[in-house]
Amino acid sequence: MKFSQMKYIRPELEETKAKYNELLENFKASKTAEEAFASYKEIDDYKKYVDSMFVIGEIRKTLNTKDEFYSAEQDYLDEIDPELEECTQEISKALLQSPFRKELEQAWGSVLFTNLEIDLKTFSPAIIKDLQEENELTSKYDDLMADAEIEFDGKTLNISEMEPYFLNPDREVRKAAANATSSWYMEQSDELDDIFDKLVKVRTRIAKKLGYNSFTELGYYRMTRNCFDDKMAGKFREGILEHIAPLVTKLAEKQANQLGVSSLTIYDFGLNFPDGNPTPKGTPDEIFEHGKKMYAELSDETSEFFNFMIENELFDVLTRPNKQIGGYMDIISLYKAPFVFANFNGTAGDIDVLTHEAGHAYAGYVANDLFPFELQLASDEISEIHSMAMEFLTWPWMEGFFGEDTKKYYHNHLYEAVKFLPYGVMVDEFQHLIYDNPEMTPSERNDLWLSLEAKYRSWLDMGGIPFWAEGRRWQKQLHIYTDPFYYIDYCLAGVIALNIWALSQKDFNAAWAMYKRIVDFAATKTFVDLVKDSGLPSPFEPDNLKLVADMALEWFDKNGV
Ligand code: ZN
Repeated sequence: MKFSQMKYIRPELEETKAKYNELLENFKASKTAEEAFASYKEIDDYKKYVDSMFVIGEIRKTLNTKDEFYSAEQDYLDEIDPELEECTQEISKALLQSPFRKELEQAWGSVLFTNLEIDLKTFSPAIIKDLQEENELTSKYDDLMADAEIEFDGKTLNISEMEPYFLNPDREVRKAAANATSSWYMEQSDELDDIFDKLVKVRTRIAKKLGYNSFTELGYYRMTRNCFDDKMAGKFREGILEHIAPLVTKLAEKQANQLGVSSLTIYDFGLNFPDGNPTPKGTPDEIFEHGKKMYAELSDETSEFFNFMIENELFDVLTRPNKQIGGYMDIISLYKAPFVFANFNGTAGDIDVLTHEAGHAYAGYVANDLFPFELQLASDEISEIHSMAMEFLTWPWMEGFFGEDTKKYYHNHLYEAVKFLPYGVMVDEFQHLIYDNPEMTPSERNDLWLSLEAKYRSWLDMGGIPFWAEGRRWQKQLHIYTDPFYYIDYCLAGVIALNIWALSQKDFNAAWAMYKRIVDFAATKTFVDLVKDSGLPSPFEPDNLKLVADMALEWFDKNGV
């Protein structure tokens, strides 16, 4: 079904609750394992229906944050979400306590049950009001960012539209763009501080009500961490600092030399070539055409997937006023339809949408028949492998997007992939320290950010521009507001993606087969087991981080532009 024809019907709270309860009673009344399977199938279908109404409503809101109908619906959904959580938690409990659990577990695997147990640790009816407050605050942040209006270059621009100016070969233009961006953020700084302070407080309150010492433990459960704890995360960060950060420092020095600047400032940071970063050639239509060709040639499965996406209007990627910033993929499970949202801005980032977000969408498409629904939903450190590895596996088709810039693109992509890792773990460390010390003042949080910048990226010069110099850069990082502890996922998956990239350089078919294995596993394994069972080395192994750094360095030495 085409996206425009998908009907949104508000899931009325009382009606939805009543339906869930009715289905739950049926499940509980099952006399045999067969009956339990059949009645759970009905629950699963209804869950997918309700979830799809949420997703369609949310997508339509992000397509136009000024749409009054969907804005009001979003508020309604925010409000009822925690109340429905109570119903789904009751369903989880019934599954875990079912007399047929053994049979169910045999059919669906144990990870699903482990995850349900973890999920139960994140909720109690006593926190419904707090969850509603948390939802309101994150929506407020989203709206504030989407409504950004920055006067620049004779135009009124949103945050995505400012990005290309940070990549302008003219340093004065970049600096002016940074100043304009900074001014806008500084004008919002009180509100940004206030929203975040309230978020830390409400999250801490929720954690205490659920019996945890701090939000950190709860944050891990919310992220369904089923195979690593904060100690392993800490070791991973140390490994990145020891093995990847020195490589990035070396590459950053090289970048500064090439740009002819004495130190790499925040407005030089993204520009990897003095004459400009690689840009995609052609109109958005031509880019799409080539995307279609790419997925058609990559494999039969990806070909079918991409055609399905186009036929059903499941890409909305052009930027326009009042569209929410950023990019995401979501699944409308009722129609087995992944949906890709982005803001094309004429940079290489546009191609990442066709690889990264499309990688998520492909994995969602492949998993869409799995029952129960939860088996389709891989945790984020797994999902980000689907997307980040796809970015590398599509390298052989990049010439069709970048033409004469293709070599530059490879350099840029690989450099960005390693450059990201120290930043990513910095965001993770920041969040641990924030939630371990919820009483910090806003200015202490900024100082903390600056101290982490010094630890992980001492070469980065803030250029005296207030937003960066005051240590507020983190306020631009959506996940810190909306999805706490979602960030190390990118780093863990990023290392795996680099492993797959390295393999693809030697044996493309082997790398593609490995990728397909990972996608086929969907949510049936924990991250650690999935990595092991796919035949990959663990990112928690410092030797692997060293290996990745060595391979990247070797590539740069051989292919340096
Ligand atoms: Zn992603």
